[in-house]
Amino acid sequence: MLTFAIFCIAVILVLLKARLGLSALRRSGRPYPEGIAFVGAVLVAATIGLLVRDLTSATNHSIYAFADGAPLLLITALLYALSALRSARSLPVWISDVLVIVAAALAIFALHQPFMNTVRLPLMNQYVRLGPWAAPLTIAWVWLISRMTATLNRTPQVTGGYLGMVALTLLLSWHFKPLDTRSISFFPAAASAALAGAGLISVPFALRQRDFNLGWSATLAMGFLLSQIAVVGLFKDVALAILILLLLAFGLPLLNVSFFVLRAQRRGEKVSWQQSHVHLHDALLQRGISPAKIAALYLAVATYLCGLGVLLVATRNWHLLLRASLVGALLCSGFVVFFSLTRILMRRTENEQIPEMVEAFGVRISAVTMSEALDKIDGFIQDRQPHHVVTSDANAILRAQEDAEYAGILQRAALITPDGYGVIWGARLLNLPIYERVTGVDMVTGICQRAAQHGYSIYILGSAPGIASTAAQKLAERYPGLRVAGTQHGYFEKEGISEEEVVQRIRAARPDVLFVAFGIPKQEKFIASHLQAMDVPVSLGVGGSFDVYSEKLKRAPEYVQRMGMEWLYRVWQEPWRWKRMSYVPRFMALALREWMVSPVRGRRTPTPSPINSIKPPLN
Ligand code: UDP
Repeated sequence: MLTFAIFCIAVILVLLKARLGLSALRRSGRPYPEGIAFVGAVLVAATIGLLVRDLTSATNHSIYAFADGAPLLLITALLYALSALRSARSLPVWISDVLVIVAAALAIFALHQPFMNTVRLPLMNQYVRLGPWAAPLTIAWVWLISRMTATLNRTPQVTGGYLGMVALTLLLSWHFKPLDTRSISFFPAAASAALAGAGLISVPFALRQRDFNLGWSATLAMGFLLSQIAVVGLFKDVALAILILLLLAFGLPLLNVSFFVLRAQRRGEKVSWQQSHVHLHDALLQRGISPAKIAALYLAVATYLCGLGVLLVATRNWHLLLRASLVGALLCSGFVVFFSLTRILMRRTENEQIPEMVEAFGVRISAVTMSEALDKIDGFIQDRQPHHVVTSDANAILRAQEDAEYAGILQRAALITPDGYGVIWGARLLNLPIYERVTGVDMVTGICQRAAQHGYSIYILGSAPGIASTAAQKLAERYPGLRVAGTQHGYFEKEGISEEEVVQRIRAARPDVLFVAFGIPKQEKFIASHLQAMDVPVSLGVGGSFDVYSEKLKRAPEYVQRMGMEWLYRVWQEPWRWKRMSYVPRFMALALREWMVSPVRGRRTPTPSPINSIKPPLN
């Protein structure tokens, strides 16, 4: 109850400072006013908490909360002030390292003993005394955590939220501990509640305010406070699980540091704190991911890892092996999600050499954006020779694995666009330069728009009776000047009309572009077998697109498309599609398998293979 009150006090203080104090601080020209406000709010809220605990505590405690915790808060405040002074005077960074080490030693002195003094090894009930190693180990731990946390301030938008998340984890773990083994000190609860409140409430400010920055010194001091909370609150009995919890909670700075250390080593650079290595954040920025997205990604990782930490503590009664495998499995799947998410969010960089075609999952895919695809189609129309364009989604790729005829058609197509979120996800996982969905539905819009401008004519073949003509009418209304050379529904055989007759009608209508809406693989097989006979410059299969343009079906809203959930929306509208959805896990398995066996996980360009050596289409 009291910890919740402290949490709220910190929230209110940050909000108050944000309203009243920050602009005044900024006007006075102080560097990083957010940092001053943040540290102030945390320390004041924690101090109030300690005092209230002493006043309200009924039992006669041998250690008073305030007397116990206040020295640590004071040391934190001093560390912050001196470190900020160091930055203001532009003194070398190592001075801050010395300050942290002195502060850690002072904290041990204030607490009368190093807290990291016994370690319990897994599967053993024995505690191993650290003896003379206790003090240096505690100091090293405090220095490492403070330093790693400060390094994270390279992404200032994330720092507050991250600090809040870790503090919340420590607070929750403290609450999960059985009452009798909880530390007698109230300091960990008070300090973590204050830091959790201030940190979490700063997230919306950090994401909205472009220049939000707590400053290096404030982050260092708050890292120091976190390490103290961990030392006092949890290290009374350092079981391995607790150590793992801390590794998880501090996982984000750990990830960041490991990234730049490994990267620097791989490139033969000298690894040091002082050097401005490329951090994970910089690498993601360089690959075109926006700062807001990186911040959100970082916070999501921190939240996930902290959640795992809490799970570890909450399941303390389970068998160690069970807990370890559960957390291990969740950690691995979390890493795969994080890894693929970063790849998916990457954008084409300037001057990036993009090959015409890439090979993935045994098929060729054109590495084009929508406008490049439309430019190519323009070129095909000028050329007047017949060209087959395929919009290839996960379903088409799977079909090509099983159906040799279909695979052959894909090999001969003039343009194979990446249709669907699944293909983008899979291609990004393999680090192929495919960044944008070029779907059949969007191609219809793009082509019709250009057709209206340049005077091209279109022909619509396929979909249920009435749909093709309605869609043609709606498209002509939407794009004035669009010439529709003809329409024909897709169930002509039931009316006794032969395929050859339809082909002749199309040939006679002389359209520039033919849209075929029969669904995969029927539409591709139809186009491939009649490509020359129809003699249309561009023929492409567009699946159920005209069901959307005729307004028989609604397309998923933009945000659903961006979330990669368009397929779910289609199932919602046409529940019979559930049966077909088995392609989603099948495609995921195919992509993961290819990723695992791919010899180089770096960027891959098409390698000469039987597929690529097949002659381009006759046209
Ligand atoms: N269709 C057709 N003739 C057929 C079979 C299907 O015209 O013999 C039409 C059907 O009415 C629907 C489209 O082809 O409009 C298939 O759309 P679907 O969304 O199933 O294709 P996908 O994009 O999933 O391949």
